[in-house]
Amino acid sequence: MPAPTPIPSPIQSYLERLHARHAGLAAGEVATYIPELAKADPGWFGIALATTDGRLYEVGDTRQLFTIQSISKPIAYGLALEDRGREAVLAKVGVEPSGEAFNSISLASGTGCPLNPMINAGAIATTALIAGHSPEDRLARLLAVFSLYAGRPLGIDETVYRSEKETGHRNRAIGHMLRNFDILADDPDGPLDLYFRQCSIAVDCRDLAVIAATLANGGLNPLTGERAVSHDLVESVLSVMTTCGMYDFAGEWLYSVGLPAKSGVAGGVLAVLPGQMGIGVFSPRLDARGNSVRGVTVCRDLSRDFNLHFLRVPRAVRTALRARYSLTGISSKRVRSERERAVLDAVGERARVYDLQGDLVFPAIEAVLRRIVHAQDALEVPIVDLRRVSAIEPCVAPLLVELVVGCGERGKQVVLVGAERHPGFLRRFEELLTAADQWGRLVTFPDLDPALEWAENRLLAAHGPPGGGPAAVPLAAHDLCRGLGATALAHLEAVLEPCGYPQGYVIIRRGDAGDAVYLLTSGQVSVTLELPNGQRARLSTLSPGMTFGELALVDRSPRTADVRADTAVECLVLSADALDRLGETEPGIKAGILQNLLRSVHRMVARLNHEVATLTR
Ligand code: GLN
Repeated sequence: MPAPTPIPSPIQSYLERLHARHAGLAAGEVATYIPELAKADPGWFGIALATTDGRLYEVGDTRQLFTIQSISKPIAYGLALEDRGREAVLAKVGVEPSGEAFNSISLASGTGCPLNPMINAGAIATTALIAGHSPEDRLARLLAVFSLYAGRPLGIDETVYRSEKETGHRNRAIGHMLRNFDILADDPDGPLDLYFRQCSIAVDCRDLAVIAATLANGGLNPLTGERAVSHDLVESVLSVMTTCGMYDFAGEWLYSVGLPAKSGVAGGVLAVLPGQMGIGVFSPRLDARGNSVRGVTVCRDLSRDFNLHFLRVPRAVRTALRARYSLTGISSKRVRSERERAVLDAVGERARVYDLQGDLVFPAIEAVLRRIVHAQDALEVPIVDLRRVSAIEPCVAPLLVELVVGCGERGKQVVLVGAERHPGFLRRFEELLTAADQWGRLVTFPDLDPALEWAENRLLAAHGPPGGGPAAVPLAAHDLCRGLGATALAHLEAVLEPCGYPQGYVIIRRGDAGDAVYLLTSGQVSVTLELPNGQRARLSTLSPGMTFGELALVDRSPRTADVRADTAVECLVLSADALDRLGETEPGIKAGILQNLLRSVHRMVARLNHEVATLTR
């Protein structure tokens, strides 16, 4: 059989569809005012997404180099703040949106200060503030910081640099204006040269996503763990990106996308979801405001589809994954035979519970899906526990459906627990499954215990002894008779009373006098307890060969739980009196039975201890 193709990441599949959807978008023009930029292929199109815990998704031309252009401005602004302090920088460059084009020659009346560091005037003034004892030193410091943000050494595209330097008369005019108002202390040529070089740093789309994720991550590059900018300054950088990053489109952008962002005339767009992730898009066709047409469209779709607007509060944290454990760590309340237990211990890792909490927003579900997709080779039954989740964003249902379908096609089954607590989500989930003609793949349980049992049964069917457990067990094969010879068995049999119960019959009631132990020989019983809220909790489910009511043999205390016949049941009942009488004439038989009881109690305690350890980890 050929190896099955892996389950695709639903996030990756989404990005591929997003890319395909907008690849045909041919509106806008490649920038030509810097002659070298005109050589860009208008078809180039890349989308990259980097999370603050270091996962990178890429589709399309994400490794095509292009020049960073204006996206360099917030980075340079951070460095200027670092070098001079906020006050000194604010004395030279304001933080008011200009509502004008990136290359407008707009300085505040009176002071001559550029309105903000995202328009060219403010960016040139900002670059002039970067410290260094020579032009080379300033450039080296600038490149070093950009490289920290990107997590790899970046260099300059010399051709684009020369092309802009030769034709950048408008920027030179701005430089002289700044000099005129003493915003630049010296000749503008030095700052202008550094600005042209800074704009010509060669990056790819992936770099943009990582730079954005570094800003999202408080200045710490999530891939390298290295700091690119002080944590304290990140909010200032993101503030100017929010109000001015998209120039005269900033208001509409904030309204409809809601992410601090920066665009560049080579076609890059960088957007930041603080605390969560960074987005990079690259496509050279620009709209009339100098923003990448596909870049804007992609960000708008991402924000809408995944509810990324940064003013949506509260945001959940990445610790949406409260715990993750497998069926080797915990088990259902169905007591398994030793044979079944051995199988589950061997393959229990193939069913895993992802215990979630908090608000399931996009970054939270992304982190969960990533783990499931990553573990897929070792995983047959992912169990997604939604009981502790407080709210589920609309974007989660389609992503989970995609996982369910992808798993289903590969013989794996996703189980949802507690989906009933989120009726809106469940309805959408069912609709989408039905629309995909996959309704049969819906497996959801209100509680974890039945989900675990279902998963165990599935693993046992796939890996266990054929046919599951036996329907009936003769006395000689019963757990309680282990080690007893034929004569001992005959003695025991003589004092046992066979009893049959119909399905639903309550064999033991809580509070009853405890005066006998029951050897289950056919059928199934469940031990349950009524909770103060009226609901019933299952403590265990037993199969033939197992024993219940054994505490009666210890101290004849009243029954502590109810035992009910799940099916028609047959038992052999051993009364405490009969066992005592047997002990007087055949002490060896009594000792053997007690020893077997002790073993089964020990097995249960060991499993419970293991489970407590798993859950309190
Ligand atoms: N280097 C470009 C310029 O100054 C940057 C402009 C931009 O990317 N919006 O014109």
